[in-house]
Amino acid sequence: MNFTNITYSCGHDGYVELPENPKKRESQIKFLTEKASCPDCYAATLAKRDAENKIGCSKVKLSDDVFKAEYSDCKFTKVGITEPNMRYVFIPYERVAAMGVLKALGVKKDTPDYKEQIEFVAQKYLSKDTSAARKKLLTDEHISDNTKERLSVAFDIIEKYQEIISK
Ligand SMILES: [Zn+2]
Repeated sequence: MNFTNITYSCGHDGYVELPENPKKRESQIKFLTEKASCPDCYAATLAKRDAENKIGCSKVKLSDDVFKAEYSDCKFTKVGITEPNMRYVFIPYERVAAMGVLKALGVKKDTPDYKEQIEFVAQKYLSKDTSAARKKLLTDEHISDNTKERLSVAFDIIEKYQEIISK
């Protein structure tokens, strides 16, 4: 093993294993001393970036397949993930809530206009005051118990969302 003490670009020292090949060795040293941060500073930078990305978002662990199919427009990170093909994705609260409402209402993800429905719910329902609708729901005899149950779950999600964003 060829461990050498170097000073990273952040000014902290550390031991690194360098390649035997002189050219590769030189370019690695150049990279570490001029561009790279020490592991602690690097982790701090990533943690800060994570915190910034998380504003207004839920951090959710997803497989790459699900990410590509449904959330490729969201910011993501791989920090802290040891499993292959998994990543953390930052999904806006609004979208999480709208999807929850649709699920409660029995709308499937493979519905052709699913994306439009998410936007519709986000714009029309997430900011609504649910208390009046809840009262009406309880006393309405024309609505089946099954539907009442679904709607009350949807109201729960809307209220939870409003609570989160009001903080
Ligand atoms: Zn450092």
